[in-house]
Amino acid sequence: MAKKVVIIGGGIAGISVMRSLHARKDDVGGGLDLTLLKREKSGWVSVCGLPFALRGWYEIEKTEINKPQFFIDQGVDFRTETEVSKLNLDESSVVLKTGEVLKYDYLVLATGRKPSMPASVTEAGLEGVYTFNNEDDARKIEATMNAEGVKTAFVRGRGIIGLQSAVAFALKGLKTTVLGGPSSLLPSGLDPDMGDMVKEWLEKQGIRFILERKEITRLNGVDGRVKSVVIGNGGAEEEIPADVVVIAKGMNTSTELAVAAGIETGESSGIVTDSVLHVKKGRGYIKSVFALGDCIEVIDGVTHRPKLSQMASTTVVQAKVVANNILSDLTGEPALYSSYEPCLSPTAADIGGLLAGHVGVTSEAAARAGIKTVSGKATKLIKARYFPGAKPLTLKLIFDAYTKKLIGGQLVGEATVAERVNELEVAIRVGMTAEVMRNSERCYDPSLALLVDGTIDAAEEAMGITTVY
Ligand SMILES: Cc1cc2nc3c(=O)[nH]c(=O)nc-3n(C[C@H](O)[C@H](O)[C@H](O)COP(=O)(O)OP(=O)(O)OC[C@H]3O[C@@H](n4cnc5c(N)ncnc54)[C@H](O)[C@@H]3O)c2cc1C
Repeated sequence: MAKKVVIIGGGIAGISVMRSLHARKDDVGGGLDLTLLKREKSGWVSVCGLPFALRGWYEIEKTEINKPQFFIDQGVDFRTETEVSKLNLDESSVVLKTGEVLKYDYLVLATGRKPSMPASVTEAGLEGVYTFNNEDDARKIEATMNAEGVKTAFVRGRGIIGLQSAVAFALKGLKTTVLGGPSSLLPSGLDPDMGDMVKEWLEKQGIRFILERKEITRLNGVDGRVKSVVIGNGGAEEEIPADVVVIAKGMNTSTELAVAAGIETGESSGIVTDSVLHVKKGRGYIKSVFALGDCIEVIDGVTHRPKLSQMASTTVVQAKVVANNILSDLTGEPALYSSYEPCLSPTAADIGGLLAGHVGVTSEAAARAGIKTVSGKATKLIKARYFPGAKPLTLKLIFDAYTKKLIGGQLVGEATVAERVNELEVAIRVGMTAEVMRNSERCYDPSLALLVDGTIDAAEEAMGITTVY
């Protein structure tokens, strides 16, 4: 008889597991019976592409890579607009809001994240105020920013999604304000000196930043639509005009189903798993229930502390682990990806034409974890100065002061950021030291690279060495 796998969640996590299992379903004796349950109407959507749709690069519809029917035609029980209301772990079943009960041999929890709205915002109940979590949010934001008479925008949050929203508004000609805490932008990945470069770039695009410990105290509206945001910190208040508001601060984990079923969540609020992503209940891990994606807690590859990663790049690795472990369980084959490695969260983002990337820990995150650091920084062109397109790139390398191993990398520039983030990810993972990095040979062609790459200068600066070439 076919083995039944029920996947809750149709984001990147759930879809990736489903696709991997479907591709190998005929290798399982008796076959695989796949069910995917999700709230949205859509099939497989690239949410990471949504901020660029708001910038007008393409239509939001283009981010739907496959419609639900595509998967239904392949024999997957792909159910949209479906709410799961309960997990019955003892009976190996899930209960839908409709009352329908679905039995499973394997359950995959890919319930993702949920954005948080400050109480001051929800209480106001005004139109024109959105979180930015999926394609439905993107459609609402797009409709509002393009509506007649909309001239001002307000964004709460200085992470990638907040800044990309602000860029879309500014490009549309809306007077845009971003509220974030001190001291600079993208604090989970960039030290303030690097974050300030992003800030200066965006200020030139007309975006105003308020980076202070202030919160939204209330919203004002006319005819049920937002018109302004009032911010303060117990003292003086400021009213900022806002015809459209995006709240992009503090993504939470969506773990209600798991928690109600007694599955353990950790200090970061994510679901606790073992290294093959089985969930934990009581003292043990449940071999038939996996969790992955934005809803789980991961172990940081540098600090070895629990954290949330909430990146598609992290999720896709976890999906391989889950699918391979289910398949190896059913086929007896050894798993190709038998365990999930501690997480370095490599990230690259286009923020209004400036690229920001990071991997590993920031100086501040290292200090919080009790790791003393030395760092080096270099700003160099990406190719010989006489070549067209020779743009500057600033990179900062953070090393453990004791072992001299690389533990963090940060980049801000107009090109080559993503490739370098990936390169630094490998360097951190293999434990590369400043000395090895400094002595490494780098390829050279004046149209593509410099004779002495910035990583060499940054590694030397961290080592306290200056070489004149
Ligand atoms: C605008 C935006 C841009 C991004 N850009 C990038 C990027 O450039 N690079 C990158 O690496 N990451 C990026 N991310 C993060 C990345 O998209 C997420 O890490 C990834 O999508 C996580 O996928 P997920 O499937 O775990 O969660 P989600 O996408 O949150 O999916 C959760 C799914 O679970 C379903 N669900 C939850 N509870 C229930 C229930 N009770 N019943 C039925 N269904 C349920 C939901 O309906 C949904 O389908 C971006 C995120 C956003 C929002």
